[in-house]
Amino acid sequence: MIIGVPKEIKNNENRVGLTPAGTMELVKHGHTVFIQQNAGLQSGFEDEEYTKAGGKILATIEEVYQTAEMIIKVKEPIEQEYTLIKKDQLVFTYFHFASSEPLTKAMIDSGSVCVSYETVEDPDRSLPLLTPMSEVAGRMSIQQGAKYLEKPLKGIGILLGGVPGVAPAKVLVLGGGVVGTQAAKMAAGMGADVTILDISIKRLRYLDDVMSANVNTEFSNEHNIRKHIKTSDLIIGGVLIPGAKAPKLITRDMLKEMRPGTVLVDVAVDQGGCFETTKPTTHQDPVYIIDDVVHYSVANMPGAVPYTSTLALTNVTLPYAIQLANKGWKKACAENEPLKKGLNVINGDVVYPAISEAFNLPL
Ligand code: NAD
Repeated sequence: MIIGVPKEIKNNENRVGLTPAGTMELVKHGHTVFIQQNAGLQSGFEDEEYTKAGGKILATIEEVYQTAEMIIKVKEPIEQEYTLIKKDQLVFTYFHFASSEPLTKAMIDSGSVCVSYETVEDPDRSLPLLTPMSEVAGRMSIQQGAKYLEKPLKGIGILLGGVPGVAPAKVLVLGGGVVGTQAAKMAAGMGADVTILDISIKRLRYLDDVMSANVNTEFSNEHNIRKHIKTSDLIIGGVLIPGAKAPKLITRDMLKEMRPGTVLVDVAVDQGGCFETTKPTTHQDPVYIIDDVVHYSVANMPGAVPYTSTLALTNVTLPYAIQLANKGWKKACAENEPLKKGLNVINGDVVYPAISEAFNLPL
């Protein structure tokens, strides 16, 4: 199959859909891989590394789309890309269709076959192509939180791990899923005193088993949240109710109960945030302060670490890309139920229920 990897053109998107290692694997399977010039540069991959791996460089995005039978990328196509996508072209990327009617209509009109990373679903209902980004954001939440706890950045001025003779910082993690687990692990590794709150006893039981002794678990309810926020230095929001807006676990009035310089990192911002005072921020301007409490709520945290994020993403997307290339989408999806769930639009027809419901389109 002829595969094309365009350079991402969405604002501030530095990841790339395929690494030189992935190129090498696809070429080994007999496929031809075209990479747009400088597509991997922001993630740390030079064109030369792709050519050494057997890929071929094309100068423009137009050439990539014109040449390829399958496009592998990261973000949903933006308007300039809509008309580049051809009939019958297989497009494997994040689409997030339900949040954009223009994109959905454009892909229907294109006649392409759209396989979305975010709807590939394992039998246990987990989303294997979303998990790595939650892992990145969870780990990064502590790195960012530790930074904003510093006094010059308006934080309390406490070192996460303390020092011998001085107590460490207290970190409260709301939600013990992928984000919460990775956040707790990082904070505990730095020596902080960590508490995870979740509503799933099964999850808390598991976390209690695997976490180190400086991590405690408690059931998530308003009483426990109010108790902990008074003494927490850093609070991480990592709750998710699938398909719904995040519950507002920390309300505006609760900020007054926190100490000045407390830092809130709301990773759940992309689902509306789990703090009432959350509003989305960017890497250019990541924080704001309300009632002396520092809020960090960047909606695309993994974008700041494109090297790690590209590798983490492509580690999980490549096996599916190889199946799609080897067998074609029909056979690959017929033989792989999780991948079949990734099918969203086929030659002008919406085939994913949530998208048809979102825009009242026939299924
Ligand atoms: P997950 O499903 O793995 O975990 C969510 C956890 O929240 C579950 O354990 C669930 O039991 C728990 N929960 C639900 N209601 C709760 C409550 N009232 N109190 C405490 N816990 C509760 O989800 P995840 O992969 O960890 O993702 C968490 C959020 O982070 C999502 O909104 C996701 O979209 C977001 N996210 C944001 C970024 C970013 O860049 N900002 C990146 C990746 C993920």
